[in-house]
Amino acid sequence: MKALVAVKRVVDANVKVRVKPDNSGVDLTNVKMSINPFCEIAVEEAVRLKEKGTVSEIVVVSVGPKEAQEQIRSAMALGADRGILVETTDEIGALEVAKILKGVVEAEKPELILLGKQAIDDDSNQVGQMLGALLGAGQGTFASEVKVDGGKVQVTREVDGGLQTVELTLPAIITTDLRLNEPRYAALPNIMKARKKPLDTKSPADYGVTAGTKLKTVKVEAPAERKAGVQVKSVDELVEKLKNEAKVI
Ligand code: AMP
Repeated sequence: MKALVAVKRVVDANVKVRVKPDNSGVDLTNVKMSINPFCEIAVEEAVRLKEKGTVSEIVVVSVGPKEAQEQIRSAMALGADRGILVETTDEIGALEVAKILKGVVEAEKPELILLGKQAIDDDSNQVGQMLGALLGAGQGTFASEVKVDGGKVQVTREVDGGLQTVELTLPAIITTDLRLNEPRYAALPNIMKARKKPLDTKSPADYGVTAGTKLKTVKVEAPAERKAGVQVKSVDELVEKLKNEAKVI
């Protein structure tokens, strides 16, 4: 069966982001970009399913600027077979991405469609769910375990206070949570091999979608600076500070 994995190019998780002075967004100048960590988990899961013989081909898709090719190549170095870049330099909203992915699904006809549960740049947590609705497909979100069995997939989901297992008829959407797996590091020979794997470039218009967004970012602010902590020498001093300085007891 074919698996389609959607990967987003985002600021690397280890970078401390800087807000632009005019508060219009995050400054991306000279910032390291990577595959969104949850998307990397989705790629890893597809690769593991391929290693088990369940999946026969892994196609990776990214919607974004030309540079998103780097993240597609990284996914190929992890084991994906083929890539599709839907190139746009326009700001693009979750619904527009979901509509493009619907077009890709209709063209590629994958049985498994894997996405991250959320992109760590805007924390939307929307694209997988929107895609499920647009396709009329079942969705197992926040997956911590995936078991494919014939034409069905069982997805164990991390929900508040426990785990829920759902069974979906394929083709189905799965969005990955942190504990699903630990992605491997790409080996150097695989990084070299990835350079030769096929990568198609498309445009949103190829899928009948106009890039853009119905959302306007009004303001982006850095979190308030936290004051440095103090070490107290005794419980008495702690109680005194809580009472008279913090005034919480
Ligand atoms: P979000 O709903 O934006 O938090 O993103 C959830 C998931 O949707 C991500 O982890 C990706 O798998 C997918 N996704 C979001 N934006 C894009 C994009 N521009 N290109 C490819 N996949 C995307």
